[in-house]
Parts: sequence; C-alpha cells; structure tokens
Amino acid sequence: MSSNMSQVTRHSSLSPCPVFINGEWRNLSGVATSPVFNPSRGETIAEAPMGGVEMVNEAVESAAAAFPAWRETPAVERARVLFRYRQLVEKNLDRICQSVTREHGKTLAEARGSVYRGIENIEYACGVPTLLMGDTLENLARSVDCETLLQPLGVCVGITPFNFPAMVPMWMFPLAIACGNTFVLKPSEKVPLTVVMIVELLEKAGLPRGVLNLVHGGRECVDALLTHPKVKAISFVGSSPVAKYIFETGTRHGKRVQANGGAKNYIVIMPDAEMSKTVEALSTAAFGCAGERCMAGSTAITVGAAADRLLPSLVQAARSIRVGPTDIEMQPDMGPVITAQHRDRVASLVASGEKEGAKIICDGRGARVEGAPNGFYMGATIVDQVRDEMTLAREEVFGPVLNVMRMEDLDGAIEAANKSAFGNGAAIFTQSGKAAREFKHRVKAGMIGINVGVPATMAMFPFTGWDDSFYGDLHIQGKEAVQFYTQQKVVTTRWFGDGVGDVWKK
Ligand code: NAD
Repeated sequence: MSSNMSQVTRHSSLSPCPVFINGEWRNLSGVATSPVFNPSRGETIAEAPMGGVEMVNEAVESAAAAFPAWRETPAVERARVLFRYRQLVEKNLDRICQSVTREHGKTLAEARGSVYRGIENIEYACGVPTLLMGDTLENLARSVDCETLLQPLGVCVGITPFNFPAMVPMWMFPLAIACGNTFVLKPSEKVPLTVVMIVELLEKAGLPRGVLNLVHGGRECVDALLTHPKVKAISFVGSSPVAKYIFETGTRHGKRVQANGGAKNYIVIMPDAEMSKTVEALSTAAFGCAGERCMAGSTAITVGAAADRLLPSLVQAARSIRVGPTDIEMQPDMGPVITAQHRDRVASLVASGEKEGAKIICDGRGARVEGAPNGFYMGATIVDQVRDEMTLAREEVFGPVLNVMRMEDLDGAIEAANKSAFGNGAAIFTQSGKAAREFKHRVKAGMIGINVGVPATMAMFPFTGWDDSFYGDLHIQGKEAVQFYTQQKVVTTRWFGDGVGDVWKK
C-alpha cells in the first residue's frame, strides 16, 4: 500500500476493477491491491488488484488460443470491428472523459483532447487493409516474380503509464489487433478504471473472445509478461528506468520491444519571437495536464533579450491559472497531480533548485483549494536562472514546473538542450527561418516544434523519442508501428514453361 493511504479518505462504494480474460469479466480475489485515487479529492475510489503469474498465464493462453482464427480473419473484417469500435468510443466520449478526469485529474477539456488522439489511432488502424499491402516486382529475374507479405506476430503485450489512461493504451491495441495479432493489456495500477470501459466497448463492437485481454498488476505481473514464452512483442510507455528494464528483459527473452521512456523537453525562445503567442504556447506546454506529459515543455531557454520580453507576461499568465477539482461542472484551468507522494516529490525538486541557486519567480507549492482540502494540488511554478548541473535541470519533474535557463545565443541554447540524457521533444519560437533551420538540424531530440509548444505526433506519424526517451528500433504510431506489429515474408515465385499449367497454349 502506498504511503498516501494515511492522508486520504476512503469512499464507501469503490468502483469495480475486473480483469477481462478469454471474453469473461471477473474480479480477482485473494491478491494484494493498490489504491486508486480521485486526485481532485484525495479519496480512494477503487482498489486495483495486483495479479500475478497465474492471471498472466491465463491471459496469454487465451490470446494464443484466439490467434489462429483472428489471423485468418480477412483484414477488411478486422477493420470493420474497429470502425464499429470508433463509433462506440465517440458515442461514449463524455463517460470516458469523466472517468479519465476522475481517476487521473485532467480537466474535461484535456481528457477530451487526449481521447480524440486515441480515436485517431483507431481511425488509422481502420485503414489496415491498405497498411498491410506489400510490394511486388514482376520479372525480378526472367519469369521470376517477387512479393512481400506482412504477417502478424502472435500475442502482443501493452504496458501503459498513468498519465493518459485512454490515449496511450489506444496507441497500441487497435493497430496491433488490426494487423491480426492478439493482445494482453496491462494498464497502470494508478488508473485502471477507464481501460475497463474502453475494453468493454471493444467487446460490444464484436471483437471475438480472447483477441484482447485485460490484466491488472505491478512488477510481478509485468515480469510474467516479459518472460512468457508465448509473448512475441511488447509495447511499453512509462518512465525511463522502467523502459530500459523492459527493453533489456524483454529482448533477453527473445521478444520484439518498443519502450518509450521519460523526457525533459526544451523550448528555445529567440528575441524575435512573437511574444504574446509564445507566452500562450509556453504556458500550455508547461502547465497543461498539470505538467504530467512526456511532451511537456519543462525548460524554457531564453536567448539574449528574450528573457526580459517574455518573463513578466509569462509569470502573469502562470499566476492566473486557476487550480481546482476537475470532477465538477465549473472546470478549473488546471487539475491536481496524480498522488500526494508525487506532489511532494515535485515540490522537493523545486526546493532543491532554490537551494542550488535558482530563483523561484512563481511559486505554486502549498496550493490550497477551497472545497477540496485533500486534493493533490500544486500550482503553476516558474524557476528562473536554472543551470544544467542542478538536479532540477537534469531530472524529469513531471509536474506544473517550468525551468528557465538564460543563454547569450542560439549556439548556447542548442548546446544546453543537447546536454539532456533524454531526447523526446524540443521546440523553438522565432520569426527567423535561419534560426529555425539551424535548430531543427542540430538539436538532439526526435520530435521538433517550430512555433509549436507541444510537437507530440498524431496517429499517422511515429512518436519518435531518442536516447533515454526510447529503447528499441520501431516507434509507436504510424508506419513504424505497422512494421513493429508485423513480420515480413518475401516470396520469390517461378512457374516452369512446359508444365501442365500451360493450358492456354492448347
Ligand atoms: P512508470 O514507469 O512508473 O509505470 C509505467 C508502467 O510500468 C505501469 O504500468 C507500471 O505498473 C509499470 N511498472 C512500474 N514500475 C515497474 C517496475 N519496476 N517493473 C516493472 N513494471 C513497472 O511510469 P508512470 O509514472 O506510470 O508514468 C509516467 C512516466 O511515463 C513519465 O516518465 C513519462 O514521461 C512517461 N511517459 C512517456 C511517454 C512517451 O511516449 N515517451 C508517454 C507518456 C508517459
């Protein structure tokens, strides 16, 4: 049990958190549980079961048994299930968003935006008959033709983080099953409820039993998935140390692995940037979703005179962000962070920056919210004069905290950004094409924004983290994900000239 237990109120009726194995919903009994909070209130709303090896074996066996028939189901028929699913998700959008908000704390607008990013992944997967088309070359040699086939792998696994309860699972299972694989999904034990809802809708859309299985748990469950001989591929999204562990353990056991890790994303502001638009974009990038995004703009690097032009309005914008509970009609601008423990970690990283010489110019620590005294709140925080040797500069904070580093010129800004061990995203705000070109060419990150604060890619483009932000070869989303969820076969064909097949000559 987490240390948060001492600080929270228990709700009298807890939401059920069943597993879904071989087409059947059931509650696990006799296993340890982990509390799920409504972070807006600090209340326990469910207990996530921490399933183990037995549950994993059942789920993988169910997926393995469903694979032969699902693999033989024509791609157009598999796509039709996903077309129906897409409609059901949109029809149930409000219910899904309320669930995201309740267990994660995002505002309803943020939840809606994130679920739409998920829907776009279903839409992309609906195109699977086209996505699975291979190449052909007639007369590779005389009377010899060649073609490539893309075939499914078998049982694939998805292990997901807390910060996008619907979207990140939807990055994985729609395309994996569209390609003809079967799937076992293990969501974060901090947000296991929305996933129950989105799996129920897939069942309603007519997915055959066993094609998608849902399990709950922590490390024991993950280890059982990583080592199961019938698992062929693993998609992971979470923090970098766990991503590295998943990649190393999974590949050692012969699995194909794509593992997205954490991040620290730099936004360079040139003195010629359009400042009012930049303030708006930077504020959203840093404080949207309470900073709990792997693409959050967590460090602003101001170049030359940009700091003086930017910071007064940025501080004003940050101070005007209303923090509050997101489970009510009157929506705040920003919700809570995921747990009390996480809020305290974020606050202590800010304190460490101050101790090492940085200046707090907007302090959101100790935020109190009327009517929600036990919620896990932290207001928007800006820390100026951060230097790259500080702990605050190096570690992923994952909260509503923007670091500001000041540089003399673009070279210094690029050099500072490139010192990061992570490489998820980076952005530049400028009116100069030359500066933008220099930045996109030299900065060491996979997703680049030019006057775009959160350059997170959409379903048709790969989510291209570099360095400690990604372990693997083929990224999540887009054509790379189709390659990840399939294996290629190359068929070379020759028909002999005087065989019985030459009937047309007679
Ligand atoms: P986390 O690494 O703590 O957990 C992710 C998943 O791994 C969960 O399902 C969890 O149960 C499991 N897990 C946790 N510890 C484990 C262990 N020791 N062994 C095996 N499994 C373990 O991440 P989180 O706190 O849920 O999510 C936040 C992190 O995810 C941040 O670092 C964020 O940057 C990252 N993230 C990255 C992306 C991306 O695309 N790069 C997207 C979203 C979130």
